[in-house]
Amino acid sequence: MKGLMMDTPLMIGSIMDHAERNFPDQEIVSVVADQPDFRYTFKDAFQRTRQLGNALKSLGIDIGDRVGTLAWNDHRHFELYYAISSSGAICHTVNPRLFPEQLIYIMNHAEDKVVFCDPMFVPLLESIQDQLTTIEHFIVLTSEDSMPESSLKGLLCYESILAEQPNEIEWPEFDETTASGMCYTSGTTGDPKGVLYNHRATVLHAYAAGLPDVFGISAKDIVLPIVPMFHVNSWGSIYVGPMVGSKIVLPGPKMGDGETLQQLIEAENVTISMGVPTVWLNLLQYLEESGKTVPTLKRVVVGGAACPASIMTDMQEKHGVYVHIAWGMTEMSPLGTYNTFKDGMDDLEGDELLEMKLKAGRGVYGAEMKITDDDNNELPWDGVAFGSLKVRGAWILSDYFKAEPGATLEEDGWFETGDVATIDPNGFMAITDRTKDVIKSGGEWISSIDLENTATDHPKVAESAVIGVYHPQWSERPLLLVQVREGETVTKEEILAWFEGKVAKWWIPDDVVFVDSLPHTATGKIQKFELRQEFKDYQLPNVEK
Ligand code: AMP
Repeated sequence: MKGLMMDTPLMIGSIMDHAERNFPDQEIVSVVADQPDFRYTFKDAFQRTRQLGNALKSLGIDIGDRVGTLAWNDHRHFELYYAISSSGAICHTVNPRLFPEQLIYIMNHAEDKVVFCDPMFVPLLESIQDQLTTIEHFIVLTSEDSMPESSLKGLLCYESILAEQPNEIEWPEFDETTASGMCYTSGTTGDPKGVLYNHRATVLHAYAAGLPDVFGISAKDIVLPIVPMFHVNSWGSIYVGPMVGSKIVLPGPKMGDGETLQQLIEAENVTISMGVPTVWLNLLQYLEESGKTVPTLKRVVVGGAACPASIMTDMQEKHGVYVHIAWGMTEMSPLGTYNTFKDGMDDLEGDELLEMKLKAGRGVYGAEMKITDDDNNELPWDGVAFGSLKVRGAWILSDYFKAEPGATLEEDGWFETGDVATIDPNGFMAITDRTKDVIKSGGEWISSIDLENTATDHPKVAESAVIGVYHPQWSERPLLLVQVREGETVTKEEILAWFEGKVAKWWIPDDVVFVDSLPHTATGKIQKFELRQEFKDYQLPNVEK
């Protein structure tokens, strides 16, 4: 027997309608080059979204078309998110930090019909436009007065195309499983792969992200999403904010700049913010140097890469900011786990407390996880066993865009994340490595992430990476690459002594190489693949090859 409930589809447009009706005066603050100190309300934003919907229609954008964006976190990108998806088209956020060859590949593979870009990216697009095969128009996200001179084909100005349109619209009707957004993964090897989100998954993900033990954002919060809107929908914050009615502060192109972030937090009374570890390091460094503070900031969410313990302790002890670790992937919309304590865990102290807070956290309802050994046997949640981390759920991909159907998931329907993890009896997952990065020494696994975290906690170390290099007896041993903090000097012996008592003796790296900088991917992850190539013939001390 079927239940007798309304069959209301879960649509991104419904978030917009809800926000406009219930929080019309709530503010969005946006940093854009042509309008300093821009701010408007949800009512204004969604009125313009309807104008944009009409503009998309006049450009011939239809259900299923891909619309590219190369843009920062600002109000125009916000409008694009809602207008493109509500038109039944697919908002394809492109990461402008990718190499030109990757951008060409991604935009051609996605078959973007038009591209909206920040004025800053016009020269980049000009340099590759001859190789972009499907784009009919480039629309610059600015006002007529600030339009750059450009040789881009089909060039249009965002504010001009909006100004011509009425703010009433009849959005097309389509199913909740219709594709709404798209983001390519920043794989460190091989071609990038497209993840295609739909309305239903996006709405469910936003519900889950807003839960009290996840982001826990309320109508009284002031949210600063630093994680880029071109990277997994800014972790869903762009949907959660309007869903719950919180004020949104969009930092524009200076999202990684400590001074800009401090100013925005202070001026707008920001209470919660999300970002990768690097941005918090920048903010902390600026606060240290300037003596400035962030008194309204209560919580920050750190994800995308392992969080060094120093970020957590400095944030908490110097600035009274609680750090929550989150883990997820582009393929997962992205949320998988979130670190908030359960009842009874508040008694933890000292190292035990820090260790627990640094874990990736417990599963968010809607995204199931398990760890398995090499034979796909499930491993216990004892906090010790580590294995391949697998997930499944309503906002996790089933296939990559244009990939062979059925080739992405395992036979039993789980998605292998490529991460290696432990899960403790509390359900708290901790990432120990990427499957490809784990170091196999004498058949036992060594976590490169644990070693990197320990190295980075050294006060003179700016950044570090650990890779496995050939060893005749152990097959692989860890080699530590260290970038020293500016103005500091440190010896190899000092660094190796730092590991004593902090990790198992046999985990301590066999050697240390000092480097000027480490290579990063466009999303800020260290390019281990490149390092492995560079150091593949590295001769460890006291080893005959
Ligand atoms: P992306 O799809 O670019 O967001 O990258 C996802 C990958 O980033 C995951 O599979 C992890 O390897 C890594 N990652 C994300 N969050 C964390 C975290 N909290 N700790 C460690 N690694 C993380």
